[in-house]
Amino acid sequence: MTQLRDVLAVDPESFRLDKVDPKGTPGLPDTKAVRKDAKAWSKEAVAAIGSELAAYQEKLFASAKSGQTSRRVLLLLQAMDCGGKDGTVRSVFGGLNPTGIKAVSFGPPTDEEKRQNFLWRVERALPAAGQVGVFNRSHYEDVLVVRVHDLVPENVWSRRYDQINKFEAAQAEDGLTLVKVMLHISPEEQRQRLLDRLDDPAKYWKYNPGDVTERARWDDYQAAYQDALTRCSTVANPWFVVPADRKWYRNWAVATLLRDALASIDPQYPPAGFDVETERQRLSTPDSHGS
Ligand code: ADP
Repeated sequence: MTQLRDVLAVDPESFRLDKVDPKGTPGLPDTKAVRKDAKAWSKEAVAAIGSELAAYQEKLFASAKSGQTSRRVLLLLQAMDCGGKDGTVRSVFGGLNPTGIKAVSFGPPTDEEKRQNFLWRVERALPAAGQVGVFNRSHYEDVLVVRVHDLVPENVWSRRYDQINKFEAAQAEDGLTLVKVMLHISPEEQRQRLLDRLDDPAKYWKYNPGDVTERARWDDYQAAYQDALTRCSTVANPWFVVPADRKWYRNWAVATLLRDALASIDPQYPPAGFDVETERQRLSTPDSHGS
C-alpha cells in the first residue's frame, strides 16, 4: 500500500512547489465515509490517530527513561504567515502527555543568538531522548526570511543548505527522527484568514500588520521555499509538503505523517528492572509498609 509519506515527500530532482495545489487532498482514502462528509471523517480519524500517538509517545518516553534508547522525534513546521502552524499543533498534539513534549517557536534571533552560528539555538532546542518535539518555524528561516530580506549576504545564506543537511544527518545518526512539514497555503486563503482575524476581536491578537507587508513578497518566499525544499530533502530527512487550505485535510495529513514516523520506530515498554514476583511478595502484607 502506498503510504502518505510517499505521496507527500519532496523529490529533489522533480519537485515544483508551484505545481502543488494548496486545496488538494493527496493520499486521502477513497471511502464512503470520506465521500459523505470529509470534515467529520477527518475529526474522527485525527482523534483516533491522537490515541495512537499518545500510546507511542508513552512507550518512547518509557524506553528512554530506562536508558534503552536515545531515539526522539521532532515535527518541524514551516509555512507562510497564517499557514496554520498553531492550529496544526493544537490538533495533532492535543491528546499527548505534556511531560513528553517539547514545543519551541523561533522568532527573530536575539542579540546573543546572533553572535552564534545559526544552528546554535536550534541544537539547544532539540527534543531529549524519549521526547516528541515540535518546532514552530526553525533553522529554515535562515534560508527563507533571511534570504528574502537580505539579512545576511548571499555567500553566507547560500552555504547554509549544505550546513543544514550535515547538521540534520548528524542528528539522525544520533537517534533523531525528523518530520519536516511545509504547510502550503494559497495567497487567497492567506488573505481570507487575515480578513477573518479583522472580523473577530478575539483574533486581533493574532493579526500582525507586518504580515500584509510580507504578502507583497509572496513570490520571493515561494522561490526561497522551492530551493530549501529541494536542496534539503534527503533520504534520511525528507521534506513533506502538505496542502493546507483545507484545515481538515492538513490535520489528518500531519497527524498521519507523525504517527507513521513513530510506528517506524516502534518503541517498546522496557522490561521490569526488578523481580516482579519478589516485589509482589514484599507488598503482600497490607500493613508491612515495605521491608
Ligand atoms: P508566528 O508567525 O510563527 O506565529 P511570530 O508572529 O512571532 O510567530 O513570527 C515570528 C517571526 O520571526 C517571523 O516573522 C519570522 O520570519 C521571524 N524569524 C524567525 N526566525 C528568524 C530568523 N532566523 N531570522 C529572522 N527572522 C526570523
